[in-house]
Amino acid sequence: MELEPRVAILQDLRLQTFDSIRFASYRTASKLRYIQKSTNLHLVDIWNVIEAFRENGLNTLEPQSEVSVARLETLVSSLYHNLNKRLPTAQQVPVDSKAGLLLNWLLAAYTSDNSGKIRVFSIKVALATMCSGKLVDKLRYIFSQISDGAGQLVAWKLGEFLREVLALPAAVYESPTFHYKEGLEEEIFPAENKVTVNDFMATLMSEPGPSCLVWLPLVHRLATVETIVHPTVCSVCHKENFTGFRYRCQRCHAYQLCQECFWHGKTSLNHQNDHEVKEYSSYKSPSKQIGHSLRKSFRCVPEKTVQVLPRFPDQPEKTLNLSHIVPPSPLPSHNGFSDPSGLVHGHHGPHPGLPGQHGLFDRSARSTRGPQAAVWTAPAARPAQPCLAWPPLLPTTRSTA
Ligand SMILES: [Zn+2]
Ligand SMILES: [Zn+2]
Repeated sequence: MELEPRVAILQDLRLQTFDSIRFASYRTASKLRYIQKSTNLHLVDIWNVIEAFRENGLNTLEPQSEVSVARLETLVSSLYHNLNKRLPTAQQVPVDSKAGLLLNWLLAAYTSDNSGKIRVFSIKVALATMCSGKLVDKLRYIFSQISDGAGQLVAWKLGEFLREVLALPAAVYESPTFHYKEGLEEEIFPAENKVTVNDFMATLMSEPGPSCLVWLPLVHRLATVETIVHPTVCSVCHKENFTGFRYRCQRCHAYQLCQECFWHGKTSLNHQNDHEVKEYSSYKSPSKQIGHSLRKSFRCVPEKTVQVLPRFPDQPEKTLNLSHIVPPSPLPSHNGFSDPSGLVHGHHGPHPGLPGQHGLFDRSARSTRGPQAAVWTAPAARPAQPCLAWPPLLPTTRSTA
């Protein structure tokens, strides 16, 4: 495939106004969300991705091994062919151009030479991160790739994961803020600690999580708020019924900003950028909102930190052979397109990608079936609520350039 699509997507990125966003975390998340949508990965969920790994034999390869670019091309093309099988005729995606776009972006992110090879682990981390789906499911998959047979996190594999996942911000020119450095894994999980899947999930999904990864949950939240309409007016640009995040100044009376104005530091009247603001991902009538804000302001710790995460058994179970009871793909119930954002799915049907290479993850996939699914969907659904007081979402090392 020629180089053209790579140039195209990066030029496209520059034409957007992302670089003028003041906060590195929002800037990075916005750029990655843009790449995700440009490549239609927002229509491909984590289960589809895992299934494609299996179909293309990546699950049986050592993560550290390399595959040829031709094999990556086959994998990427199969993602889009399978996507088209799930999409109505009128919404088919052009496989060649989308595959070319994604392939070239991945090569730009993960290969610096012309060896014609790319690491299996790079492909797994990149696609599992950039696809749609719930963060909890993605992290669960990642944990299955970086833990040992006893269900414990392997420190050096975590380091490898961090290197791979932080190549994504770098691929959208955000490496000055988000990059791997030696020993980063020990900052997140000290070497002497045994880390189970539940510890891993709790740490990575906490608010704020590890500062090198703050952009990751933010990509998911951006996707969710894209369709949220705030029936009010931005105090700066006077846009009505704007979408995305809404910001409310804690000092100026009834002063609200749309995300564009806030992210770009636009102000009006007496409002200044150093005023404390709160971020909202939903709208409540002003009377309810005041009550809620007041109540919240009396708390030292935001409510969100007590979000309930699903608990998983710490020990991996034996892999069961489900080939007789799992129907073949593609499943109509497995397309994940009821929600246009592609992120807040309800419960999926049985996951056809079973049994895979890793017993630990197979079990998690099965556990999404049945009554437990309700437990799973709860934390990721992010019920309407005012978010944290500004700015704890941001890493302390953020660049506001
Ligand atoms: Zn505005
Ligand atoms: Zn103000």
